[in-house]
Amino acid sequence: MTDIRKIDREYVAGTYGRYDLAIEKGKGSRCFSYDGKEYIDFTSGIGVNSLGYCDDRWIDAVTEQLNRVQHTSNLYYTAPCAKLAEKLVKRTGMKKVFFGNSGAEANEAAIKTARKFGVTGKGENATKIITLENSFHGRTMAAITATGQEDYHRFFTPFLDGFSYCPVGDMETMKELADDEVCAIMIEPVQGEGGVKELPEEFVKEIAGLCNEKDILLIMDEVQTGAGRCGRFFCYEEYGVKPDIVSFAKGIGGGLPIGGVLLGEKCAHILTQGDHGSTYGGNPVAAAGALSVLERLDEDFLDEVREKGEIFRKELKKIRGVKAVSGMGLMIGVELERAAASEVVSEALEMGLLVLTAKDRIRLLPPLNIPYADIDEGLDILEKAIGSLDR
Ligand SMILES: *Cc1c(COP(=O)(O)O)cnc(C)c1O
Repeated sequence: MTDIRKIDREYVAGTYGRYDLAIEKGKGSRCFSYDGKEYIDFTSGIGVNSLGYCDDRWIDAVTEQLNRVQHTSNLYYTAPCAKLAEKLVKRTGMKKVFFGNSGAEANEAAIKTARKFGVTGKGENATKIITLENSFHGRTMAAITATGQEDYHRFFTPFLDGFSYCPVGDMETMKELADDEVCAIMIEPVQGEGGVKELPEEFVKEIAGLCNEKDILLIMDEVQTGAGRCGRFFCYEEYGVKPDIVSFAKGIGGGLPIGGVLLGEKCAHILTQGDHGSTYGGNPVAAAGALSVLERLDEDFLDEVREKGEIFRKELKKIRGVKAVSGMGLMIGVELERAAASEVVSEALEMGLLVLTAKDRIRLLPPLNIPYADIDEGLDILEKAIGSLDR
């Protein structure tokens, strides 16, 4: 165990501040370190392991495909890719899907689609995209440019042209920014990295109205909020709006790298042959994993996600030292009275519970199928961790 950490620190580029934990294996919502210590996991690998660690049916689906074909180029067809696309389109009422491998790539595809939509449909200068302050859209050059946080806008100049940032809830500014050169507005329905902050419903509805009125594409970045995380298949359903592009990744693959964009009526045929691509995009093993996740996320399952979300909220609000609880479904932010979130995370880790931070809040993204008993046990640990630091 010491060796793993030492080797990692010596050879892996230092972009991550890792906790003092090396995970050897896991099952469901529990994992084990190399020295045999057990943890309840309220993180799901940042909302990725939506069915927990090593779910049996998911492993069967993935290994079955692995024993047939692990990869082929996008010059040929495979069944998992085609079936996954069909399922996603039929379930959402969107028209087409493009597959990549991550959230940032999904947003790249969204941005390229929006720019071509603008250039070909509205005029050669119609390439501007509005995003929100405090947003997070990923780490590629376009995605950090889209990200409305100063912290991400250092060192890597020059950034892309044509992005502007609107404060959350400020419809006046949004209307001013939405001139004839704007091709898209991109929003996360719940700002994840920004602190688990759900956008006001009225604001989202007004943005959707503005997009409709001005022939601007509405892009929902559902990389973190999608695939059942917020208690609906996609979180935008909760807002009663219909986006033109939905980007997804994280939870959809259940632990394998897959992401992409769903394209609605207005922009389904914008990207044409040669416009975009990805060597791994639609990889059959990742797609088989995603199909297995989708099969599980039926309405009963989603009801249970919402119910479990309510249990978390109810119990968290009772904990001394908790000021407020935010988010939707099993995407949960915890605002603390006095304790520092980062210290609570370290303390909880010591006590056998994995939790995340998002800005100054604690963030919980437990597996969507977490057993009720693990919710109780994990929350007991969290209460103790907060209690020990709530001074
Ligand atoms: C995580 C995240 C991304 C980036 O996803 P990667 O897979 O890390 O590229 C983009 N948007 C949102 C909302 C995210 O939460």
